[in-house]
Amino acid sequence: MKKIGWAGVVLLSALLLSTTGCANGVNSSSEPAVAPVAGKMTVTFIDVGQGDATLIQAPGGKVLLIDGGPKDGEAAVLSTLKTKGIKHLSVLATHEDADHITALDNVVNTYAVDEVYLPKMPTKATVTMERFANAVKAKGLKFTPAKAGVSVDLGVGVTAVLLAPVKDTYDQDNNYSAVLKVSYGDTSFLFTGDAEGESEQDMLASGVNLKSSVLKIGHHGSRSSTTTPFLKAVSPMYAVIEVGQNNYGHPTSTILNRLKSYGIKTYRTDQQGTVTAVSDGQHVILSTEK
Ligand SMILES: [Zn+2]
Repeated sequence: MKKIGWAGVVLLSALLLSTTGCANGVNSSSEPAVAPVAGKMTVTFIDVGQGDATLIQAPGGKVLLIDGGPKDGEAAVLSTLKTKGIKHLSVLATHEDADHITALDNVVNTYAVDEVYLPKMPTKATVTMERFANAVKAKGLKFTPAKAGVSVDLGVGVTAVLLAPVKDTYDQDNNYSAVLKVSYGDTSFLFTGDAEGESEQDMLASGVNLKSSVLKIGHHGSRSSTTTPFLKAVSPMYAVIEVGQNNYGHPTSTILNRLKSYGIKTYRTDQQGTVTAVSDGQHVILSTEK
């Protein structure tokens, strides 16, 4: 998709919306998430309710779990790893909020873990964070500081680089969120945690290539994220919002309308359950649980 400009993506997305059965299109099925296929990268946006948990299975077998959901989603995270037969993985905690890290102590306790990435931020010293930190320590591991420029090893053929946090200090905790771009062939994914406008601005100013096929929408569709300049730079074909029942008004109509106005096909875990994206390096096909 990298040769298609912004206008092209809008046009193509509009075509896809009005077309079924397109080879490059969108499939919906009630089938459970499929096992990884050789030569394909599978990204599973796990339905954890109000929070984030995303599993990346690279074509060569490397696995990265980005975030571990809220308390209500812990069982979903653990059963996804079990069902998929994961034995070994790395973990990226985008930031310390409980809706992103609750299952991670359990994951670290249960599985062989290579690296655990976490941004350096003023610690919230919550019980949840303490449990996570203790699990990492008990395993003889240390947190690898997550910041712009750090690479994550997802094996041959896949590039995974952190694009944020760009700065060392922010006023809003959400802006410490680690943002990861994963590229496989012509396809790419941008995972933004809860990064807000200020961090988006810093990524734009840093000059990195933000263009991605799939954007995990920042902060559950809050108005504080997915600013127009950022969205234009990413110009995704697909957006995924990880969100559940909440009192914050997530996802906001502002963001839903913004995505719609750019013709971006949007998936929501609160309405469609777990969303699975499979890339063969040329195309991404998304399917949903519901
Ligand atoms: Zn969050």
